Amino acid sequence: MENSEDKKVKVDVSGKDLLRNSVLNKGSAFPEEERKLFNLEGLLPPHVSCIDEQLKRRQENFHKCSDNLAKYNFLTDLQNRNETLFFRFCMENVNETLPYIYTPVVGEASLNFSLGYHYSRGIYIPFEKMDEIELLLRNAAKSEIEVIVATDGGRILGLGDVGVGGMTIPIGKTSLYTLFGGVHPSKVLPVFLDVGTDNDVLLKDPLYLGRKKHRKSGDDYYEFMDKFVTAVKKVFPKALLQWEDLLGIHAQKVLDRYRNEVLSFNDDIQGTSSIVLAGLLTALKMKGSSLRDENIVVFGGGAAGLGIAKSICAYLVYNGMNETQAKEKICVIDRYGLTYKGQDKLRPEHEFFAKEKPANTGDEINLEETVKLFKTTILIGASAQKDAFSQKTLENLANNTSSPIIFPLSNPDSKAEATPEKIINATKGSAIVATGTAFPDVHYGGKTFHIGQCNNVYIFPAMGLFTTAFDIKTIPDEFFYIAGETLAEISPPLLFPKFEHLRTASKKIAIAVARYASQEGLIPKLTDSQIQTAIDQVFWEPKYNKYIK
Ligand code: NAD
Repeated sequence: MENSEDKKVKVDVSGKDLLRNSVLNKGSAFPEEERKLFNLEGLLPPHVSCIDEQLKRRQENFHKCSDNLAKYNFLTDLQNRNETLFFRFCMENVNETLPYIYTPVVGEASLNFSLGYHYSRGIYIPFEKMDEIELLLRNAAKSEIEVIVATDGGRILGLGDVGVGGMTIPIGKTSLYTLFGGVHPSKVLPVFLDVGTDNDVLLKDPLYLGRKKHRKSGDDYYEFMDKFVTAVKKVFPKALLQWEDLLGIHAQKVLDRYRNEVLSFNDDIQGTSSIVLAGLLTALKMKGSSLRDENIVVFGGGAAGLGIAKSICAYLVYNGMNETQAKEKICVIDRYGLTYKGQDKLRPEHEFFAKEKPANTGDEINLEETVKLFKTTILIGASAQKDAFSQKTLENLANNTSSPIIFPLSNPDSKAEATPEKIINATKGSAIVATGTAFPDVHYGGKTFHIGQCNNVYIFPAMGLFTTAFDIKTIPDEFFYIAGETLAEISPPLLFPKFEHLRTASKKIAIAVARYASQEGLIPKLTDSQIQTAIDQVFWEPKYNKYIK
């Protein structure tokens, strides 16, 4: 039975304050000598538990929760009381708890945020407080912060503008930095940038807890963001800032504006691209092919789709192809079909991938035609259009190649461009499939097809681990290529590792990124064993330590 570890930690709070400190609290597992030393005698029931007993109690109670929100609240309460036990519980029951810490249940919780609010975590920065952001950040944490996840709640999952409810996403993601990236729970900070909401239901809701005004935009928005970034640099100069679920019109702009100002990245753009790259590289390994030999269609040229298209293009260039050849391999389809030069409704952001208009085609060239004309072998969906991949399109893909790679990435499952079952049936079992949301295995022709889940959680905790372990000023795109390649190398032929192996995978990715950063002179020159030691030293394990005064 494990309990207190050899590691000694100096603690300067006692009595009820110690029990209320979620990072230090051990609940019924405080041993006799610590109960005496820290004035806890009488404040706890007499039996001293070991952590295994505590885990058994939590397990029984978790199973008694009757619905999704009850389970979400149960885990939130546990986290707010005893973070060591919370993370240990999540670690040992990862498949069962992950849907509640993050998608999909966190989306349900975001819609219930104001009504269900009962505990503050992280920091809320209303637009009107733009000149006091430094003070607000200092209120949030006494110690150094290593990872900040900041959202304006503009586009939460597939739910749109959920206002202040969007805070559930930074809370969930910072937890995953700790759970999978080993970042100490006291060193992560969820931030809600409250520029208002354009959700009329929330604006009229008397119980709504956010800023009850329409969203700020344009110069006002960027003045607020500038001040936030300046304050972050001053108060937490070493922190990695992850932009999360910003409105589409701001996502790329915010990334470009601040990426050289402050250590930062956008998970929806760069994290998604990296995980898709990992999925493609693993699928190509299974197929015995290389990316340069494939023809790609990205269906849905929004924030995610264009980010994916650009990063595939940049990755081909990174591997020696010239840009003109690389972009020719990628077709982008948006709501008016294939994007081509001279198209009436061509959006400026689509010009880069716009093709010469093929001969004998109408104004709108749909997916089915594009797949035929461009001999497509890889199809990625990021359009949120249910059933957009027709039977005929899927059959055409199977005619173009021995193993088409088909990733309908749109979330939630009700928005997927095709179900894995439909894809496997239409391609007679030849397709390699990954989805945005978890889907059950598919059985076809006496075989079982496991469906990989393209989830950014394989990437961002590793970035946080890397930046916690090393002093670095910027995150170049190449870090995301290295992360994708490393994940592909360690992935089984099931596309992605099991969640049980994610802590190990995060370490391997962080090590590979550090090796690259060291070679490129972005961090000091280090040997492999020095890199390993630096990572191991910061990687937090959810175990109770021995407390001393
Ligand atoms: P977005 O609104 O920025 O982009 C959607 C794009 O699809 C828009 O450009 C829109 O014009 C286009 N579109 C709409 N109807 C279309 C049609 N009939 N044919 C072709 N294109 C059409 O949204 P986004 O942030 O890019 O997200 C898109 C989807 O991708 C969402 O469902 C999101 O959940 C999913 N996503 C998944 C992951 C993942 O890792 N699995 C990551 C990011 C986004």
